[in-house]
Amino acid sequence: MSRKKQFKAESKRLLDLMINSIYTHKEIFLRELVSNASDAIDKLYYQALSENLQDINRDDLKIEISLDKENRTITIQDNGVGMDKAEMEENLGTIAKSGSLAFKQKLAQEEGKQDEDVDIIGQFGVGFYSAFMVASRVDVTSKKYGEELAYRWSSDASDGYTIDEVAKDSHGTEIVLYLKDNSEDEDYDKYLSQYEIEGLIKKYSDYIRYPIEMEVEVQKEVESEASEDEEKKEPVYETVQETKTLNSMIPLWKRPKKEITKEEYDSFYKDKFDDFNDPQKVIHTSVEGNVSFDALMYIPSKAPYNYYSQDYQKGLQLYSRGVFIMDKAEELIPEYFRFVKGLVDSQDLSLNISREMLQHDRQLKVIASRIEKKIKSELVLMLKNDREEYEKFWSNFGLQIKFGVYNNYGMDKEKLQDLLLFYSSKEQKLVTLDEYINRMEEGQESIYFMSGDSVDKIDKLPQCALVKEKGYEILYLTDNVDEFVMQTLNTYKEKKFKNISQGDLDLASEDEKKELEAKAEENKDLLTHIKEALKDQVKEVKISARLIDDPVCLSTEEGLSFEMEKVLSAMPEGNPYGMKAPRILEINPKHEIFKALQAVYQKDPDAVSDYADLLYQQALLIEGFPIDDPMEFSRKICAFMVKATAE
Ligand code: ADP
Repeated sequence: MSRKKQFKAESKRLLDLMINSIYTHKEIFLRELVSNASDAIDKLYYQALSENLQDINRDDLKIEISLDKENRTITIQDNGVGMDKAEMEENLGTIAKSGSLAFKQKLAQEEGKQDEDVDIIGQFGVGFYSAFMVASRVDVTSKKYGEELAYRWSSDASDGYTIDEVAKDSHGTEIVLYLKDNSEDEDYDKYLSQYEIEGLIKKYSDYIRYPIEMEVEVQKEVESEASEDEEKKEPVYETVQETKTLNSMIPLWKRPKKEITKEEYDSFYKDKFDDFNDPQKVIHTSVEGNVSFDALMYIPSKAPYNYYSQDYQKGLQLYSRGVFIMDKAEELIPEYFRFVKGLVDSQDLSLNISREMLQHDRQLKVIASRIEKKIKSELVLMLKNDREEYEKFWSNFGLQIKFGVYNNYGMDKEKLQDLLLFYSSKEQKLVTLDEYINRMEEGQESIYFMSGDSVDKIDKLPQCALVKEKGYEILYLTDNVDEFVMQTLNTYKEKKFKNISQGDLDLASEDEKKELEAKAEENKDLLTHIKEALKDQVKEVKISARLIDDPVCLSTEEGLSFEMEKVLSAMPEGNPYGMKAPRILEINPKHEIFKALQAVYQKDPDAVSDYADLLYQQALLIEGFPIDDPMEFSRKICAFMVKATAE
């Protein structure tokens, strides 16, 4: 017997969770193990085709399940590729690598929070470890195809595992589960019932493309007892053992859509694509033509935990005539739909297609383009027919669509612009650009937008006042990428996007314009004085045409906006060229403060400096910019307060 090895720390923790799982669907262990067996056969069959192995015959490939009531074991056996010693160590001694880093991070966060196990399990797809939900000990005996030696991995989970050399005739893997003792809450014996197992295979693994066989007991009618009277003959049964194929073996994606239940679609998804949650949407399509294919795709109901990180790999599984070729073929999915999971099966692809060849394969390009159109049209339909669902989708993956518009210099913007949603000042909910355009007021020329940290904050910004008063709708932007999206789009249905804190809004009537010009002329010296006091901090000080009730605001010219400047400055590498949006200080001529400024200026022009300074700092704060010297700001305010009380 070899020395016991300990599980890696994170695996140990996952095991503990499995063993003590409060998870109610313990039965899914069977789905997981059968799925692993099927994957192992897939790998071998693909190898047989590509290396032209003569000793592998498609018809011999299968999965066998046997039940031993006496010893309370379930055995699941396959004749797939098998594992060598190192692979056993790697695959069964540690959690699938992709998940393990994230798992550690999650552990660090949740240390000590035992009852969140469901969530943790859910992050990874339960895999092989789920065996320990029903078994107190698991033996895995495996022989890798083409190797001489076989090994047995054995563990009771509590304290590590052993690996020993054993004898095994054929390649493949045999997994023996020693069922846990029955308890008050759980009857593990039910997994020894052939009907239970048959039911579970039908429920979760019917689509597996290799036979899942089991020895079953069936009642067979035998020769009836001889009787004079034919009528009185009683049928006689006897119990016989028979090998039965439990699954229909038709891949789910080859079955007619109307015959597939939601549960089948969902269960297939959870099994294949490592998600614990049901998908939000199933997209199942068959295309006949120059290039024929079936595609079964899913939109997850939650963004995977690593979705917006480098770890996340996009792509669809690729099959050729039902033979698995590769996982995550990224050429099949455009970047902006990278959240879609699923598979494609085509008769028109070569079995020998390699990853390198994918990029240049003409058929594959045709498939990819059809798939893209299909996903797009499904999203458009969802948006049209089920707004609530679409908003759920949007909260998960809207950011991805926005990046899609912005990336590649807007190359794909036409395709994606109708999928966009933004928050509307008028409707107080998310709206499409089309809805905005259709509601535009007479004479409204632009699509107005304003950025900020949150909808509430934007709604209070002084810059919005005039546009709102005119009855125009404003789109409130809260994501960093939003303004870049607007800039990339530039126009929608010939209407220009207009940032309401940038440039001239051009909303004043001719009379109002004249009045403003006169005001500016009248107060020219005062404005110049303020500008001089503020030096280079501002590019210009002017009478505002945008403000209604508020004293001051900042605006900038066309080009780089304040929001973009903030986004650039927040980038890890910092604002690369120190780009700044020029600040224009706008003062409301209708506000009391303006009269105060005029009065002070009359009395003592030099006293205007402190006013100018305070007004500018306030404008910065309103705009969400930090002020250089908060102590100085506070000191000045206090001085003003003291003065005001003294007067
Ligand atoms: P996943 O299937 O998500 O990778 P699992 O924990 O279920 O995670 O399995 C881990 C790995 O162990 C698999 O990726 C595979 O390499 C190996 N494995 C599991 N079962 C078998 C089997 N029956 N035959 C060969 N390899 C297997």
